[in-house]
Amino acid sequence: MTRPSASFFDTGALVSVLTTQPLGRPLDYKAPEGGCHLGAFVEVPLGPRKVLGVVWGAGQGDYDLSKVRTVIRVLDAAPMREELQSFLMRAADYTLTPLPAMLRLATRAPGLGDPPSMQKIYRLGDAPPARMTDARRRVLEVLHEHGGLAFTLREVSELAGVTSSVVKGLVKLGAVFEEDTPRDTPYPWLEPDRASKALTPDQAKAAEALVGGVRSETFQTTLLRGVTGSGKTEVYLEAVAEALRRKRQALVLLPEIALTAEFIDRVEARFGARPAEWHSGVTMTERRRIWKMVGQGQCQMVVGARSALFLPFQDLGLIVVDEEHDTSYKQEDGVLYNARDMAVLRGSLCDAQVVLASATPSLESWSNAEAGKYARLDLETRFGAAVMPDLAAIDMRLERLPASRWISPTLQRAVEARVQAGEQALLFLNRRGYAPVTICRACGHQVGCDHCDARMVEHRFLKRLMCHQCGETKPMPSVCPSCEAEDRLAAVGPGVERLAEEAVGLFPDARIATLSSDMFGSARALKAQIAEIAEGGADIIIGTQLVAKGHNFPNLTLVGVIDADLGLQGSDLRAAERTFQLMRQVAGRAGRAEKPGQALLQTFQPEHSVIRAILSGEEEGFWRAEASERHQAGVPPFGRMAGIILSSTDMQEAFDIGNRLARNDGPIRAAGGQVYGPAAAPIARIRGRHRVRLLVKAPKGVALQPALEQWVRPVKGSAQFRLSVDIDPQSFY
Ligand code: ADP
Ligand code: ZN
Repeated sequence: MTRPSASFFDTGALVSVLTTQPLGRPLDYKAPEGGCHLGAFVEVPLGPRKVLGVVWGAGQGDYDLSKVRTVIRVLDAAPMREELQSFLMRAADYTLTPLPAMLRLATRAPGLGDPPSMQKIYRLGDAPPARMTDARRRVLEVLHEHGGLAFTLREVSELAGVTSSVVKGLVKLGAVFEEDTPRDTPYPWLEPDRASKALTPDQAKAAEALVGGVRSETFQTTLLRGVTGSGKTEVYLEAVAEALRRKRQALVLLPEIALTAEFIDRVEARFGARPAEWHSGVTMTERRRIWKMVGQGQCQMVVGARSALFLPFQDLGLIVVDEEHDTSYKQEDGVLYNARDMAVLRGSLCDAQVVLASATPSLESWSNAEAGKYARLDLETRFGAAVMPDLAAIDMRLERLPASRWISPTLQRAVEARVQAGEQALLFLNRRGYAPVTICRACGHQVGCDHCDARMVEHRFLKRLMCHQCGETKPMPSVCPSCEAEDRLAAVGPGVERLAEEAVGLFPDARIATLSSDMFGSARALKAQIAEIAEGGADIIIGTQLVAKGHNFPNLTLVGVIDADLGLQGSDLRAAERTFQLMRQVAGRAGRAEKPGQALLQTFQPEHSVIRAILSGEEEGFWRAEASERHQAGVPPFGRMAGIILSSTDMQEAFDIGNRLARNDGPIRAAGGQVYGPAAAPIARIRGRHRVRLLVKAPKGVALQPALEQWVRPVKGSAQFRLSVDIDPQSFY
């Protein structure tokens, strides 16, 4: 589409409006009475309905003029800036996503069409009611949990699971305050020039470079690499301060909701007020407020999940992607995009600095820095007295372990020593639940999910079997579902819950806490548990990936990795990289304060190159070796890849279409690429849909998207059939 030249359209002028409806293209309408701006959010008639849209440009005029309808009204919101329009178009082209779906990502706030008005909100009152009931207690808890946030009546009652009359009752008693407020209010001002921590010379140098970048108001991407605890956050907060001084906005993306609370406290300590918080756990009222205020420039800083990238910032000057290597930045549902890459794209369109921070960067970012595309800053040492832990392998071939035991005698002794010294030990196993497999000893049957080709994982804590693909649960059967033998079902392999059971047996006097994402009802419960552990409320922590990400346990001095080989078994091209990152990250949990730490990795293959690289800590060497291997194989980041996932309730249909695509691979070959497959996906069925994959490989520099578009466009299937294209796939399930 050509760039529109006009920025205002007079009454009756022909405009082209992009709606969130799945139509092929923007539609022509007449500008309403009083005209409208380019980018205006509008309501337009579509058939019998009224739908949300954006004035995308001048009308195409290729439609019967007498039938062109008029925009119903312009909504009370800042018009979408051309920068965001371009971003949506470029992101749509890159991910092969229809534009309406991109617009939906950019309008994920409810009630955008509502007029500005007052509304009633509810806050915690002065004193609890004299008579407390369960329902009342839940209401007060919800309000307490979210501190200063305001809720509508509907939100409080839904979150607390009570009727609105319970809330109203509490209002009468003064236990809850009801207030009238304008629907959307500006965010409190963040003050960039409050006293900050004195930076070390290393940190100061890095901060200066980032601040200089922000000051230049030109686009640049910087990889900020530094071991866990080296002060990366302190450093990039200086860049945030500079953006604030320049009246530009800042966005910080975090990979995990559980990390936002701690981070927001730090922002508040540094700038004197809390930034806006955007993620799936935030109330609808708050989302709408963020969306509007960001567009009016009355929200200076947003902290949140990847979808915050699609907010209508007025003047975005800095984007930080913290833990940039984290796989959760890749959206694996709906629009398949990688927030790290999209952050760089958006930054390039709005003259922003992009900071990618990590202790263990992705190979993509590392090689972009090597190639000079990204600047690179390194923080080599941990802040203060903290030093990186000693790393060593425990060779499991030499350990004597009874069946169904996973903690080796060597690791056991090390844990005992730490606990006796009054320090904490972490046992890490990246597997939720009790046991990954439930097998029948009579017939060998493994209990699987009814809807997916996946085994059900036993969760003893929840007293159920759970499918980690679709989330389906069922009670633990007492007889084998296949041969009906009684009491012959056995748990095979360890999950964290089972590991905890073993630890209780081995360390009867220690206080043991298990941290796994599925064991906490709410983010608050999890946060409370983490805080309690940090203050010394446990001697031994058993944890999954959750503990690898950024939580600070000052008294933790030993990390025992139960199965360092776990991630190396897959055929995934990133298996080595992922294992390296995860192991270094977990090991980095040990010895964050004054006490030196140690990390012990249980492995059956201590001579494996990845294990050796983890132990030696020669990160540059590891990345160089990994880069050269991928270079030779012509795989990302040195070659391009795209996954095509075909799914249908009818397996034959998915295969037939896959075969047809493979036979008609002209457009891909013409572009210099190659098609592999079709093959049944590693998880051949999810939620009752059969899945078939094709893989496209092409040399770097090939314009892959247009070729893909041309290749898959003719595909037609039944109503049950779905095709999705995954550019730069991260997982191949
Ligand atoms: P990273 O983001 O690299 O993991 P952080 O910025 O979280 O590191 O720093 C680790 C810890 O050290 C934090 O508690 C932080 O407040 C503290 N810290 C880092 N640099 C300084 C400094 N210059 N002065 C005081 N405390 C610091
Ligand atoms: Zn399932």
